[in-house]
Amino acid sequence: MRLGDFNVKLVNGGNFRLDGGAMHGVVPKTIWNRLVSCDDQNRVEYATNCLLIEGPSGRVLIETGNGDKFSEREREIYGIDHDHSIEHNLRELGVAADSIDFVVMTHLHFDHSGGTTRNTDGKVAPVFNRARHVIQRGEYADATHPHERNRASYLKENFAPLADAGLLQLVDGEQEIVRGLKVIPTPGHTAHHQSVLLDDGNGHKLLFFGDVVPTSLHLRLPFIMAYDLDVVGTLETKRKLLDRAAQERWLLVFGHDVVTTAGYLGQDKKGQWAITEPVDLK
Ligand SMILES: [Zn+2]
Repeated sequence: MRLGDFNVKLVNGGNFRLDGGAMHGVVPKTIWNRLVSCDDQNRVEYATNCLLIEGPSGRVLIETGNGDKFSEREREIYGIDHDHSIEHNLRELGVAADSIDFVVMTHLHFDHSGGTTRNTDGKVAPVFNRARHVIQRGEYADATHPHERNRASYLKENFAPLADAGLLQLVDGEQEIVRGLKVIPTPGHTAHHQSVLLDDGNGHKLLFFGDVVPTSLHLRLPFIMAYDLDVVGTLETKRKLLDRAAQERWLLVFGHDVVTTAGYLGQDKKGQWAITEPVDLK
C-alpha cells in the first residue's frame, strides 16, 4: 500500500500459538471463545506481523517475528508450524536482509525480536547486519535484567549479538527515526514498550501498535493480556491512543492478528471500539 512517499507492506514473521486465557486476561473463556477459536490445549493461533516501510530515507522493518532458532520442545509448546523467518519471507519478496537500514522493535520479547538473529553452525549472529536496531533504552535494561515474571519472554540470543556487533540504537521516549516515522512510548505491556507512528505529511497516519493492542479483539478496553506487567497502564495507553486514532483517522496495524491485520477504527453495535473498515496491507 502507498502512503504518501512511503510504501508499506505487511510481512508475517511466522505463526505460533498462545494460551487463550493468558491472551484475554480477566475476560472469561465463555466470552472470548465466542469470538476466537482455540485448540484442545486451549491455545489460539497468532501471527507475528512485521511491517516493511520503504521511503525516501531508506528501508525500515518494524518487528522481526519469532525467528527460527526454537528447539523442538519450544516448537511444541508454542505450536510453531513452520520455520519461515522474516529474513526468508523478505527474501521471497526480493528484499535482502542487508538492504534494511533500520529495524524498530516495540519491545524485546522473543516473538518480536526472534528474527533479528540466526543460528549458523552453532554461532548466533545478526541477520540485518547493516541496520540500526531501535529500541527504548529502558526496554533494553529490563531485557538484560529479567525477573521471574518476564524471564521466559526475554531470550538473550535475540539481542546480545546486536549489542556485540554495535547495531543497537537505544532511544529515550518519543523520537523521529527517519523523516515521517517516529517511535512513541506506549507503556503497559512492558514499562518501556514503544509503538510506531508514520505520518505521510498529507494528513494520513498509520500506527503500528505492538503489544498494546495485539489483535483487533483487544481494541475492546477490558481485553488486556495477562502477560502485561502493568494492566492499568495498558488500559490508559489504549484509551489515549484510540481516542486520537478515531479523531485523526489513523490506519491501525495489529502485530498478532491472523485475520484483521489492519484497518480504520469505528464502533460496534454496543459502542465498543472495533475495526469497521479492514485494510489489506499485502
Ligand atoms: Zn507479542
